[in-house]
Amino acid sequence: MSGERKVMTALVNLLDFDPEQLIAYCGELGEKPFRAKQLQRWIHQFGVSQFDQMTDLAKSLREKLATRAMIAAPNVISDNTSSDGTRKWLIDVGQGNAVETVFIPEENRGTLCISTQAGCAVNCRFCSTGKQGFNRNLSVSEIIGQLWMAEFELRKTKGIATGPKGERQITNVVMMGMGEPLLNFDPTVAALRLMLDDNAYGLSRRRVTVSTSGVVPMMDKLSQECPVALAVSLHASNDALRDGLIPLNKKYPLSELMAACRRYLEFAPRDFITFEYCMLDGVNDSDEHARELIRLVRDVPCKFNLIPFNPFPESGLKRSANPRIKAFAQVLMDAGIVTTTRKTRGDDIDAACGQLAGEVKDRTRVQERMQKMAEYQKKFGENFGKIVEITQ
Ligand code: SAH
Ligand code: SF4
Repeated sequence: MSGERKVMTALVNLLDFDPEQLIAYCGELGEKPFRAKQLQRWIHQFGVSQFDQMTDLAKSLREKLATRAMIAAPNVISDNTSSDGTRKWLIDVGQGNAVETVFIPEENRGTLCISTQAGCAVNCRFCSTGKQGFNRNLSVSEIIGQLWMAEFELRKTKGIATGPKGERQITNVVMMGMGEPLLNFDPTVAALRLMLDDNAYGLSRRRVTVSTSGVVPMMDKLSQECPVALAVSLHASNDALRDGLIPLNKKYPLSELMAACRRYLEFAPRDFITFEYCMLDGVNDSDEHARELIRLVRDVPCKFNLIPFNPFPESGLKRSANPRIKAFAQVLMDAGIVTTTRKTRGDDIDAACGQLAGEVKDRTRVQERMQKMAEYQKKFGENFGKIVEITQ
C-alpha cells in the first residue's frame, strides 16, 4: 500500500493545469495543442478519469499518460442533500482540514458555491470560516476539482450520461465558500480559466462570480487577467463600522474600495457590482445605515444582495429580524438600487453561509456541537436556522 502511494505522489495531476498549461504539458510529451484540447474535453466535459477510456487519443499517448499523470479530485468526506434540494459535500484537503462545496438548484439554473482556501486570514467578525484562522491555500486541482466532482456526481445521481451533450447541471459558479479567493490569486485564476474555456466547462463570464472582502490591488489584477462577475462583501456603510467587521478595511478603506469597484467595471462582463451585505441585528441594519450606503455607492453602478446573518456559536451577533431586513431593502430600492434578499438554503444540513467551517476537526465532538447548536437555537429563538423568504 505505501509503495503504491509513493508512485501516486510522483504522478502529475492534470486537474492542476489550466488550458495553456495543459498545452505546454502535452508539448513536453511531444503532442500537438489539439491533443491537449481533446484531453481536456475528456477530463472536464466527459468526467473521465481513466486514460484507457479516452478512445480518440492514440494508444501510445494513453499509455504514456497512465505512467506519468492522473486525474484526481480531492476526496469527499460527506455528501448531504437538504430537504430543499441543496446538496453539500465536505471535501478532504488533508491534515484534518476540510472545505465545503454547495450546490443550489433553482428552477432555471444550478449554482455551485466553491471554496478557495482552508480557513481564511481576513477574520471577519461574523464569519465562522474566519474564526477558524487561516490554514492553507487550495491548489488548482482542489478548486476546479470541486466543480469536476460536483458536475459529474450530480449527473450520476440524475442518471444523465456524461459527455458534452450530457445535460449540464451546473450553470453558475460563485466563489463564496470558504476562503478569500483574491488572496489565493493564481490558483483561483487558473480555475476560472478552466470554467470559462470552451473545451472545459464553457461558462460565460457573467455566470462566474468571484466574491471578495475587498482586496483592492487584486481586484485590479483580476480585471486585467480574468474579468468575471464581481461581488464585494460590503457589510457596512462607513469605515468605522467596517473596520470593526472586516479588519482588511483598515488597509483598504471604503473610498479606495469604491474607486476599485469603478475601475473593475471598465473591464467587467456585467455593468454592475453586486454588494453583499450581511444583516446584523442592531449593528448595520438601520434605515440610517441604508441611507449612508446610498451616498457611499452613488458613483458605483451596483445591486445589493442582503444576506440574513447565519448565526454560529460564539459569534455574539444576531440575525436582523425579517421586517427590519424588508424595511432596509425598501430604503435602498426607493433610491433606485436593485436589492434582493438571499433566501437561506440548506440550513438543515448546515450549508448556509458562514457555517461552512470547523466541522471536521469537531467531528469527534459531534454530540457536544449539536448540544451547543441546540442551546444557541433556544437563545436566539425563531430567527435561528430558518428558511427566510422575503419577496420583493
Ligand atoms: N471571502 C469572500 C468569499 C467567501 S464568503 C468574501 O468575504 O466575500 C461569502 C459571503 O458570505 C461573503 O459576503 C461573506 O461576508 C458572507 N458571510 C460570511 N459569514 C456569514 C454569516 N455568518 N452569515 C451570513 N453571511 C456570511
Ligand atoms: Fe474570509 Fe470572506 Fe469569511 Fe471574511 S467573510 S473571514 S473574507 S471567508
